[in-house]
Amino acid sequence: MNLSEAHIGEILTIVKLKGSGAFRKRMLEMGFVKGEKVELVKKAPLQDPIEYKILGYNISLRRAEADLVIVTKELSKENIFFSSDDIKEQKEGLNFEHEGKEIVVAIMGNPNSGKTTLFNFLSGSNEHVGNYSGVTVASKESQLEYKGYTIRLVDLPGTYSLSSYTPEEVYARNYIVDTLPDIVLNVLDAGNLQRNLFLTTQLIDMDLRIVAALNMFDDLEKRSVDFDYDFLGKMIGLPFVPTVAPKKIGLDNLLDKIIDVFEDREPVVRHIHINYGKAIEKAIQAIQSVIKIPDNYHVINTVSPRFIAIKLLEKDKEIESLVARLYNAKEVKEVTDYRIKKIALHLKEDTNTLVTEAKYGFIRGALKETYHESDEPIEDKTKRIDNFLTHKWFGFPFFIFMLWLMFQLTFWLGNYPMEWIDSLVNWSKELLNAHMADGMLKDLLLDGVLNGVGGVIIFLPNILILFFFISLMEDTGYMARAAFIMDKLMHKIGLHGRSFMPLIMGFGCNVPAIMATRTIENKNDRLLTILINPFMSCSARLPVYILITAAVFPNHAGNVIFIIYMVGILIAALIAILFKKLLFKKEETPFVMELPPYRLPTFVSTAKHMWHKAYQYLQKMGGIILIASVLVWALGYFPINKKRKIAFENQKQEIYLQKKSIQEEENLIHKIENQYNAERLSSSYIGRFGKAIEPALRPLGFDWRMGIAIISGIPAKEVIVSTMSVLFTDDDILDIPKKEIDMSTKIRAQVYDSGRKKGEKLFTPNTAFSFLLFILIYFPCVATLAAVRKETNSWKWPIFMFLYTTILAYLVSFSYYQIAQLF
Ligand code: GDP
Ligand code: MG
Repeated sequence: MNLSEAHIGEILTIVKLKGSGAFRKRMLEMGFVKGEKVELVKKAPLQDPIEYKILGYNISLRRAEADLVIVTKELSKENIFFSSDDIKEQKEGLNFEHEGKEIVVAIMGNPNSGKTTLFNFLSGSNEHVGNYSGVTVASKESQLEYKGYTIRLVDLPGTYSLSSYTPEEVYARNYIVDTLPDIVLNVLDAGNLQRNLFLTTQLIDMDLRIVAALNMFDDLEKRSVDFDYDFLGKMIGLPFVPTVAPKKIGLDNLLDKIIDVFEDREPVVRHIHINYGKAIEKAIQAIQSVIKIPDNYHVINTVSPRFIAIKLLEKDKEIESLVARLYNAKEVKEVTDYRIKKIALHLKEDTNTLVTEAKYGFIRGALKETYHESDEPIEDKTKRIDNFLTHKWFGFPFFIFMLWLMFQLTFWLGNYPMEWIDSLVNWSKELLNAHMADGMLKDLLLDGVLNGVGGVIIFLPNILILFFFISLMEDTGYMARAAFIMDKLMHKIGLHGRSFMPLIMGFGCNVPAIMATRTIENKNDRLLTILINPFMSCSARLPVYILITAAVFPNHAGNVIFIIYMVGILIAALIAILFKKLLFKKEETPFVMELPPYRLPTFVSTAKHMWHKAYQYLQKMGGIILIASVLVWALGYFPINKKRKIAFENQKQEIYLQKKSIQEEENLIHKIENQYNAERLSSSYIGRFGKAIEPALRPLGFDWRMGIAIISGIPAKEVIVSTMSVLFTDDDILDIPKKEIDMSTKIRAQVYDSGRKKGEKLFTPNTAFSFLLFILIYFPCVATLAAVRKETNSWKWPIFMFLYTTILAYLVSFSYYQIAQLF
């Protein structure tokens, strides 16, 4: 009997839970565990919901939910032995008891995979077996006793998929949805896995409890195949058992596995989500969120909402009858239509095709890692390209080459638009200079706002180009290959390919990257991925790299930037190994690395991606960078030394009165102006602070202005550039007209203004590289820490991240600089 049929006050024992995996999980968490006692407390007037008491708590269940809990009446010893009236009860009780030992197994698989043979040999029945498809039309039932269990087998018609193209498919699916078998026995033709696993992916979507029989294993063994099916099972979360049905090989193993899964003690079992790619996953989420409302529990307790969403995107006709049963069917339909249209517009692709391709991508990835056949024919183009791109030897160098190319192009292509923006900024400066009266406001606008924000905005093209390449790699399907190649390597550092995507995204921005770690199920792996993410040099750091390399390594800028990125990756790897050893104990869950088909990205989707990034960048410009620039400017402007200011004005007047040639006059004024500015800066608040910390930074090769630049990067790394634009004056550059002096010239011209090295060039290659290393490693920006706080839900990890990155940055820069100085 089920729980909704109980009477008030009755105490019952739970024997079985039915329903979709998500429902089962929820119920188990509430305490509806096999063997647990549950009491019916009261029923609502319309018999729904019903209140139960379990583990001392009162819980109210909907009737549809209570229907899925199979229970048995409690038997007391007295009842059994003394009351004749209870003999009937006792019998009934034993029957109920029996319900807990009965396992309904639905056999599903492609036609000719050996379902009926397996069915016959398992149950000793004599159904007709045929070597052509279509023999099994409806379902056949039979049962067997095994280790105290009654196993009821249902032989369903063979299907290639659970779409509703053929009557068999419709029948098989309806059977599952309506009768809720305890276990689905997925029979696979082991010699034809690529095609057979397609159905398996659909069963996974349905969130069913699956045991897979690798039938016809004898055929497989005849070929020279190296197939790690245990690992495959671990990756996709269901056990695989090799069988040869006609020879009765593996049948006991199969039954044992069925019981293990039924009793929830099979460690391999885990519900996974097949990754359908960004666009489809987003659509699934949108549809799922409208389905997942309490009013729909009567449907989604037995059918996974994710499955419904996927089927809707596949435009499955039959699913509509199921959707019609939803409370908000109309809304669900609207959301679906909207999503389908949106994807069609942006990706120029049918959602149905995308889902199917993703399933094959999943299978391809799963088999690529576990199934190796020496004389395997190469069927499709994707496989042929993959054989090169994920090749044992070529794959990795090629990937590194792609990264190298990306940074070279980012630097080189970005140079042109950079010049245009630069001249636009200069033009605005001149306009302001000419039309505004001298004063603090002018200083603020010129030196604070335009210098600061202008210094950063010129890197917009570079960032767009970087994002263009990242989204290109993602959209073509290459990124998935990169993740695949990296999987092995990632295992060496205690992570796996799943962590790779968030790490690559970190090249764009660490904040979404840290949020993307949510796809990593294992908590420790996730935390580790978060902790090393800041070493993936984000695009905000790129402006600093470009600025410094262009000034100090003009002929090798792209290479130096590439090296910096590589150093970041290396540090991430080393830190991961270290933390894995020190902080987290090893426990691994393998995943399938999908290999989606290659495709040409559409212009719309790439353009949209770029625009989105540009918009975010501009927003940052108007917000945090503007504020930080003004703050840095103000701290460098105040306190104003009135006496000194008046003296400076007088000096200027004197020069005018001397009536020299215009050129001479300009140069002289330029010179004293710079002297004045430099003095003012070093006596300002920021100057005093910088000087105070300078001794600690000297061993790294930095002077006080670089120290300030580093500190100013705390809100956002781009601010380092604007700080440098504000702090670095153009002293001593007398050979170039003032308006033609750009940041590179300025950086090259800077000298130490005090200490042992006074007068020597500040940015030697050694200091520059030490500085780049520091910028790479130290404190990720405030937004990143906020994301870490949010994702880890504690202050501990962001504080830890702040400290360890900064200490590490110091150590690395220190070691580099000290050693480099020896040569
Ligand atoms: P169904 O369509 O899935 O029900 O498949 P059948 O049970 O009708 O089997 C199709 C054919 O495959 C029959 O000729 C079986 O004898 C054969 N067969 C089934 N299992 C095996 C196996 O494990 N190894 C081999 N070599 N043949 C098998
Ligand atoms: Mg059959």
